Amino acid sequence: MLGKLAKWLRLIGCDTVYIRDAEDSDLVRIAIQQDRILLTRDCELAKRKMLRGRSLLIEDEHTSQQLIQVMQAFGLRINMFARCAVCNGEILRVDKDSIRKSVPPYVFDTQECFGRCSVCGHIYWRGTHVDSALKRLETYLGG
Ligand SMILES: [Zn+2]
Repeated sequence: MLGKLAKWLRLIGCDTVYIRDAEDSDLVRIAIQQDRILLTRDCELAKRKMLRGRSLLIEDEHTSQQLIQVMQAFGLRINMFARCAVCNGEILRVDKDSIRKSVPPYVFDTQECFGRCSVCGHIYWRGTHVDSALKRLETYLGG
């Protein structure tokens, strides 16, 4: 349900685990074992005693508002090129020449900074759509 939010949290550099179709009890156990905050739209789940406040009820149905809620709740800052949006792996900066064959030619010609996921190998650059979305977010959050 919060898959888009999870991708955005990773995009801004937040260590985020996303599990589809898991039982509530599994989510609670993983949150406790891995010392994580459980984000959910399920009011009952968010109130589970075992979590001892390690949960946040996501109120809005729009991803941008959800992201803003989480960033404000935990004082998150935008740290691009840190986490893979696909698998949550760490992104490492790579030499532009080393990814020449892995990206479309126009991307190679127009971008200077590239990163590669250390786990799945996905390659990242600051695409314009991500740039403009982040600018809107930064404006909203006050820089
Ligand atoms: Zn990855």
